[in-house]
Amino acid sequence: MVRSNEEVAMGRRLLVVVFACVAFAAGAAAGLGIHGCRTPPAPLPATTPLDGGRQEPAGEAATVSRPVLVVSAKPSSVPQGGLLSVIVEGAPEGAPVTVELFGRAVAAFSSGETARVFVPVAVTQAPGVFEVDAHCGECVVVPAFVEVTRREFPSSHIAVTQETAELTRNQARIAADQAKVRSARATTSPRPYGEGSFSLPLEAEVTTPFGHTRYVNGVESGRHWGIDFGAAAGRPVKAANAGKVVLAETLLLSGNTVIVDHGLNVFTTYMHLADISVKPGDVIEKGTTVGHVGSTGFSTGPHLHWSATCGGESFDPSALLELDW
Ligand SMILES: [Zn+2]
Repeated sequence: MVRSNEEVAMGRRLLVVVFACVAFAAGAAAGLGIHGCRTPPAPLPATTPLDGGRQEPAGEAATVSRPVLVVSAKPSSVPQGGLLSVIVEGAPEGAPVTVELFGRAVAAFSSGETARVFVPVAVTQAPGVFEVDAHCGECVVVPAFVEVTRREFPSSHIAVTQETAELTRNQARIAADQAKVRSARATTSPRPYGEGSFSLPLEAEVTTPFGHTRYVNGVESGRHWGIDFGAAAGRPVKAANAGKVVLAETLLLSGNTVIVDHGLNVFTTYMHLADISVKPGDVIEKGTTVGHVGSTGFSTGPHLHWSATCGGESFDPSALLELDW
């Protein structure tokens, strides 16, 4: 995309306005005031009247409290293909909270007065600054703002044998496998498994990063929705964090495959394993060996394909390593 100097300057001015707005919202949140970026700042109490300015007779209860939701999102600057962690504080216990971002609303997982949800950023999401809003009935909201930055996704080329290429022709089996995977990820724990951070499943060289446009035998075959680590066959592959095994079986293209639910709709997947060391329903600790590096399924040699999804959407699993879990 070519941008004129004027457009760039206008973009900068917009950013200044937005960040002034963020600074104000943060200040308002700190004082438990009510935001707004669209209304002039004014000191407000922690609760607001619902009476619309109506005069109340002296001596009667004059106001009804409205809960104040304070939204925070991390990281404040996220690349295309990344993952956002959104936390909403202040909802009444038991009240359903939804988070709205990129024009979509997603239900958050509540625990006491805190609600959490993870939102993947599509690789095709236009860069810019976006408001993270939240709703819970009559709540008043202090939104957060996040910046989505452009990321380059180069092309990568692989060559496979005719026999391997033939695998992709079995559309009926591929559709059945995809249905199994969707079903495995259809439910998640409303509480996170484990308390610590995520780690790499294997320390090895990255041979194909996330998001590359893949060419197989010279023909474009879509995005690479995970990270490939090249490693000797037989090396243990470890669960990136605690979780529950929701799929552990041989699929046509991904070979021996393990999917782990970490809770809050975050799943990690381990593909092309030589063997599988866990079974569906196992609740495992971080670092548990789920299998060993292999080359099963649609594969050119021993490697681990590690992927991550949230709400059925793939994101760069390396984003998990930075996450406050
Ligand atoms: Zn791969």
